[in-house]
Amino acid sequence: MRGSCARPLLQTAALALALGCSSPAGQAASRQQSPAAKPQGPAQAPPTGARGFEPIRFGEGNQAYQAELFPGTARDPAIAAPESVLGVPVGARPAHHAEVLRLWRTWSEESPRVVLEEHGLTYEGRELVHGVIGSPENIRRLSAIRADLAKLADPRGLEPAEEQRILASAPAVAWLGYSIHGDEMSGVDGGLALAWHLISGRGPEVEGLLEKVVVVIDPMMNPDGRERILSILEQSAGYVPNLDDASLQRGRWPYGRGNHYLFDMNRDWMPGIAPETRGRWKAVLSFHPQLFVDAHEMGGQDTFLFSPAREPLNRHLPAKSQRWNATFANEQAAAFDRHGWSYYTREWFESWYPGYSDAWGAFTGAIGILYEQARYAGQPLRRASGEVVTYREAVHHQAVSSLANLQTLAANREAILRDYIADRRANLEPQPERRDVFVLARGRHPARERYLLETLSGQGIEVRAASGGLVLTDAQDARLAVHESVELAGEAYVILPAQPMSTLARAYLEFDPRFGEAELLDERRELERKGQSKIYDVTAWCLAQALDLEAYWCRSAAPLDEGELPLAPPEEPAAGIRAPQTDAPPYAWVVDGTDDRSVRFAAAAMESGLAVQLADESFESAGRAFARGSLLVRRHENAADVAEKVAEAARDAGVEAFATPSARSPGAGPDLGGQHFHLLARSRIALATNTPVSTDAFGHVWHHIDRELRLPASLVDVQALGGYDLRPYNVIVIPPASGRLRSLLEPAAEDLKSWVRAGGTLIAMAGSATVLADEKLGLSSVRRRQDVLDQLDEYLFAARRERAAGEISIDSEAIWNPPLEPEAPAEPAKDKEKPKVDVDPDAKRHDEWLQLFAPQGVYLRGLVNTAEWITAGCGDEMPVYFDGSQVLLSRRPVRTPVRLAPAAELRIGGLLWPEARQRLAESAYLTVERLGRGQVILFAAQPGFRGYNAATARLLANAIVYGPGVGADQPLGW
Ligand SMILES: [Zn+2]
Repeated sequence: MRGSCARPLLQTAALALALGCSSPAGQAASRQQSPAAKPQGPAQAPPTGARGFEPIRFGEGNQAYQAELFPGTARDPAIAAPESVLGVPVGARPAHHAEVLRLWRTWSEESPRVVLEEHGLTYEGRELVHGVIGSPENIRRLSAIRADLAKLADPRGLEPAEEQRILASAPAVAWLGYSIHGDEMSGVDGGLALAWHLISGRGPEVEGLLEKVVVVIDPMMNPDGRERILSILEQSAGYVPNLDDASLQRGRWPYGRGNHYLFDMNRDWMPGIAPETRGRWKAVLSFHPQLFVDAHEMGGQDTFLFSPAREPLNRHLPAKSQRWNATFANEQAAAFDRHGWSYYTREWFESWYPGYSDAWGAFTGAIGILYEQARYAGQPLRRASGEVVTYREAVHHQAVSSLANLQTLAANREAILRDYIADRRANLEPQPERRDVFVLARGRHPARERYLLETLSGQGIEVRAASGGLVLTDAQDARLAVHESVELAGEAYVILPAQPMSTLARAYLEFDPRFGEAELLDERRELERKGQSKIYDVTAWCLAQALDLEAYWCRSAAPLDEGELPLAPPEEPAAGIRAPQTDAPPYAWVVDGTDDRSVRFAAAAMESGLAVQLADESFESAGRAFARGSLLVRRHENAADVAEKVAEAARDAGVEAFATPSARSPGAGPDLGGQHFHLLARSRIALATNTPVSTDAFGHVWHHIDRELRLPASLVDVQALGGYDLRPYNVIVIPPASGRLRSLLEPAAEDLKSWVRAGGTLIAMAGSATVLADEKLGLSSVRRRQDVLDQLDEYLFAARRERAAGEISIDSEAIWNPPLEPEAPAEPAKDKEKPKVDVDPDAKRHDEWLQLFAPQGVYLRGLVNTAEWITAGCGDEMPVYFDGSQVLLSRRPVRTPVRLAPAAELRIGGLLWPEARQRLAESAYLTVERLGRGQVILFAAQPGFRGYNAATARLLANAIVYGPGVGADQPLGW
């Protein structure tokens, strides 16, 4: 499911059903035929009526689809059949993680064709494995085969004779990954069927294949998601068969698509937030596969889609390997034709964002192939035509697809290996006419810089360290400004272009990926004629922008000391206490607020009971400068164990706490005992869950609170918000939700308002923020643009006045000697002076038209008010991730700490149509408004999108951890 994967984000529900990888909507029912399969685990199905009743029936029973999956193959009887563990034929019901593991363990003991390797653990502690299948001879020399393929993958220094030997002798490697989206289940069972076929099959067809190809099977890419949806499906299954596609028996919130934190791991290959992804990077790169299959499912009424993709294709995709896609498609099609099955290629499947599984496989040198099988959720289903389709059929499709692709790989082994090495050689060729060297200047955000290093190095990209300064020529920075030359005095990371993974680095770090003319025309036509977009994921993703780092693409980067640029070693943050050189007890400890980890320090320190202060200005202490947003723990405000607690919190957070002997700030900044330091209050967080909250967006926020901030959050059911006693919480976070949230908040609005007035911090974002901006709820005076079309000029004026206030200059001559006739103020007429008229229906229609061109994941320039506490750790502008058609407008007394830039400077990366530029220019990105003793904080888009948008996630972290203390009033203790 790729198409639908993105659709919830894009708010086009109809498409989600029509396209693939369907959104969680639209799963359905089950018919059980004859003997019931026991729903859980490998135990035998109980004989019907044996205990006087028949249990519910999950799966389709072994009568449903009788076809043999691989007919005519002789089998080794010593190899355990899947049925021996499942109790039913493979595909009769979805297998559990424990069953899949047990089968693979058994096979690895039984068969000389199998090796089982582990590559990680899920968040819920489930083992991640991959099984390697080859001829006994290839399995025996597996390390030598891996070493040979590593030489092709990095051909620097490879001798021609050695290369010829490898090309003549090495098997090609196929990596087959199943069901990265947990509720797209048939891949896993298809993979089991295929594995058994390859391990137990006798005769030249299977044995010949295994001499030419080493098959690596990632049998269950998302065990946590699969077990979650299996639990739901089994709980929802009935005794009476139900073929309804729309039944909740096909799943419900939070579904099984994501991992434990509901992250879409088919978008995570680039940022590697999930441990599953990081484990897989290492495992895949230890094989250097030539074929990379990613098996999904899409809407239940669909058929089967496979590669190749349609335009737009990411321009950095290796050329030679991808030419094989047509050959693979033709032979996969022929295999389907032999059965008379329906299928299609291209249509909605594009390959623009580089962080999908198959795209990642392609960037690392393989032929990347996507499957999308119609989803039945483990059960039979009736299609619109009346045809009843079964889960085991879906499993059959997956298995046949995989085998067809393996056969194509085997038949073309040497030619594909030759193209593989040709692509890698092309990556090593310098392109002197391009800005081809990537440079990251160190120091702006240390934790984010370390993350980027780990993320790129972890995927095989060589990152070099420059410690003696660099001169860059013809450099473009991450906010798109071009410089003839740039001199960097401090440390930097450098990515040189001539390396085997250079295309992956370019694809990830390109500042402004642009569609070609034809693709733009195509998209525009789709929007104008059909009112829908052909793009199904983000159009910008540059990590340097997502992390707001000081980065450049340049033509050359010369070390000032003319030294070498060694590979950058992994870095651990310095953490703990930096003590002064005296024996006197310190006055306080200070943690610099630049680093995002300082927020985690504050959270940990408050959890341990420390009183922590937040600085609203920069200052000097302990012999160094500290940025605004730095944290102060005073000795006299805490108990005797304060030093140990500070040290522990600093270690936990990975920051340094500087002990300072004095409250005096020697420079211009405030002294440490005064009013520029604000006592924080421990956050007690409620996080809204359940439909209509977006599953993955909820997961992104939850992950941030739990894993980044390390704070407990109470998950509260948004459906029943009015029924909670909200007093135990001082922060409520509502992740992005659909407009249906409005009807849920209406009855709870008064309670929520009272709670905010009493000191609560209410945080909402994207869809949920636009709901809170509804005037009728009375929670915010921020407004959706389409609701104030008659006041656009006033909002614009307010925005400009606000910006001017940040850029004050004084014309003293005009004050002391004013001109005789002062200029008339430009302020528009006040409401009361204007006749109240209904909004022009043409204006509404026009605005609806403009909304069609909403961006689908872009980076926009956010102008930051650095006088606001919520922007601690941010510079005066930052890239902000944005998607969707909702635009928020704000004016005083609402404060707007981050406002989108004027039209001319608005776009940083991604496709932003002029219509969207016009609507978004100078609108609000982040608003803070007081309500009684509390506050309402709205983000126009999702700040922690996919876990890698750390620049805007910092704003969310500040809101959650600092909000209760500095933006709201808590009762004084006594
Ligand atoms: Zn999918």
